[in-house]
Amino acid sequence: MADIKTLIAEFEQVAADPAKSVAALKKETGKKLIGMFPYHLPEEIVYAAGMLPVGMWGGQVEIKLADKYLQSFCCSLIKANFEMGMDGTYKILDGVIMAAYCDTLKCICEDWKVAVTGMPMMAMYYPQNRKIAAAVPYMENEFKLVQEQLEKIAGKAVTEADLEAAWEVYEAYRAECRKFVKLVGKMPKTLNATARHYVLKAGWFMDKKVYTEKLAALNAAIEAAPAEEFKGAKVIVEGIMVEPVALLDAFVENDVCIVGDDLSHQSRMFRVEGRKEGTVYEKMAYRIVDAYADPLLLDEFKEHGKELINMVKEYGADGVVVCAMKFCDPEEYDYPIFKEELEAAGIPVLYMEIEQKMDSVEQYKTRIQAFAETLA
Ligand code: SF4
Repeated sequence: MADIKTLIAEFEQVAADPAKSVAALKKETGKKLIGMFPYHLPEEIVYAAGMLPVGMWGGQVEIKLADKYLQSFCCSLIKANFEMGMDGTYKILDGVIMAAYCDTLKCICEDWKVAVTGMPMMAMYYPQNRKIAAAVPYMENEFKLVQEQLEKIAGKAVTEADLEAAWEVYEAYRAECRKFVKLVGKMPKTLNATARHYVLKAGWFMDKKVYTEKLAALNAAIEAAPAEEFKGAKVIVEGIMVEPVALLDAFVENDVCIVGDDLSHQSRMFRVEGRKEGTVYEKMAYRIVDAYADPLLLDEFKEHGKELINMVKEYGADGVVVCAMKFCDPEEYDYPIFKEELEAAGIPVLYMEIEQKMDSVEQYKTRIQAFAETLA
């Protein structure tokens, strides 16, 4: 049985230095790499084309070049991605896929083409209303357009069998991620906020097949281990992502375990199980149709609050910590609605506005400490 701490350390090594990990991935596999902007992109097509998708989730960079193209109220995630496109950090990538989900992303596609040269950029457009019948064939068409561009980069045609095989790899990956997320509450000390983050983040920078095998070994080891006694607070985190790591460390220092998440960086990308019937394109499209309570996707019945309340019950959480990415309008539109619902249900909520690069997290530490004290 693999050792839990050794496995976590291996995930940490990958997730703590994405640039180094991605360079090693390219060297070890010899495969072309395609950068995936956030969110819900058809990674399966990249994989089926014999290339590897890698996540583009910004980083702790000083913004020097990106301001030439981006307004000051652009979110820090996209600013960081743009900066790294312009300063050459992403030149290891053989192409980039981007989808226009929010107002920021809608403008970035064209900016990127001008600012970051020498790298193919594939823009995708998802339907605004994903629930109507026309949405599925529309998305199929978008996937096929991206596929054509990927085939040119890969220098090979993608067959239906390639796509089916890639779909199976991704369904297995998503199933192991869902399993891991549910197991965290069993070992709140070993799988503390920082460790949990590293385990899930590593998946963005590894071959998904290799990552899934490693995660399955970790899940098996957790299942076999005795449950840890924990007297601290348990919370659900909500938002796009939770970084920098110093912020996660603040949860650990204050004995607050993240038992569940409603983050775009994590569960929102894998919590929907694919349908079994239909072509691969249909199955990929239905993962978008079936996504729920995601502020990036039209949610006409505003089920975000209901989902958070369900999660609090399911994971036995004491409260919800909202990590709102500064200037992220889809998140900001949802917050007042679900805040009211959570409070009506008697669930304590901590709201923190975060940025990817923060000079100091001291004030966040104080707020997490104070919140933990109210939950005790
Ligand atoms: S959804 Fe929010 S965080 Fe993501 S790119 Fe758009 S504004 Fe930025």
